[in-house]
Amino acid sequence: MKALIYTGPQSLAYGEADKPQPGENEHLIKIDSVGICGSDMHAFLGHDDRRPAPLILGHEVAGTIEGGDNDGCRVTVNPLVTCGHCQACTSARDNLCPDRQIISMPPREGGFAQYVTIPASNIVHVPNSFSLEKASLAEPVACGWHAVRLAQSALNRDMSNICAIIIGGGAIGVGAALSLACVGVKDINILEPNENRRRFISATTGLPVIKPEDWKNSNTADLVIDAVGLEQTRKSACKIVMPGGVIAHIGLGSPEGGLDIRRMTLQEITFFGTYTYTAEDFRATAEAMFQNKLGSLDWYETRPLSQGAVAFVDILQGTVPASKIILKP
Ligand SMILES: [Zn+2]
Ligand SMILES: [Zn+2]
Repeated sequence: MKALIYTGPQSLAYGEADKPQPGENEHLIKIDSVGICGSDMHAFLGHDDRRPAPLILGHEVAGTIEGGDNDGCRVTVNPLVTCGHCQACTSARDNLCPDRQIISMPPREGGFAQYVTIPASNIVHVPNSFSLEKASLAEPVACGWHAVRLAQSALNRDMSNICAIIIGGGAIGVGAALSLACVGVKDINILEPNENRRRFISATTGLPVIKPEDWKNSNTADLVIDAVGLEQTRKSACKIVMPGGVIAHIGLGSPEGGLDIRRMTLQEITFFGTYTYTAEDFRATAEAMFQNKLGSLDWYETRPLSQGAVAFVDILQGTVPASKIILKP
């Protein structure tokens, strides 16, 4: 099969790879659409020890099942494979399973290819009326959905009158904003430094998108979602959040710095980290997308998988207005 193979820092080769063989209770998925994630970019730059070359990256996959009883079924893939019987898995926190695997990290190859294998329990069927391109957005949107679900219980109040700020207009930030709108939040602002992306997101979602430095109001947000995760964005989150407010941290930008622990203590600010989604969150997100509860989902662009290497460079150089590039094998 054809695949885009990560061969070393800042190097991707489009070529032949072995077609994967499904194991017991697994499906072979013929990939229609696969999104490029921030974590793929991280690996591409050589910053992820868990993803050594050579490796097929990519975990945001939608396609059709090939072979078996479900041959031809259209599906989107929850890439997080968990054990199903540990304490985390049996208490609805399966994303914290100590044995979790994700496709695109050894021992599982990823989705920048024509085929990938996945356990049968990880697929969600996609209605015929819904495009597989948009279905591949379920993964990043589910990250935002999960953060919003946790934020709701941390805030523990009527969501219709809170002020929410999302830092970062990538797919997870946009997914979080759309998930907030879905649970009734009315005052939502996305902070995004890239001008072209600001225009693209507001044109495709109708949400207000603001230059970070233009949001000068400290102490104003009940909820800040940091979908970037750099020292600078954590610093901003600590300023923007109001006393008694909540900061949800999704971004994996840099591991340390930026938190104003004194202010968080004196003002009783809740800070929590959030990683991916539970299997239930993933299904609920996909269902909300299918029912048109998360908008028209037009904030992506597509390119052929064969041109994937160029797409990575374009993302790196900040020249991509869309919140997501979806590659087509
Ligand atoms: Zn992702
Ligand atoms: Zn487990």
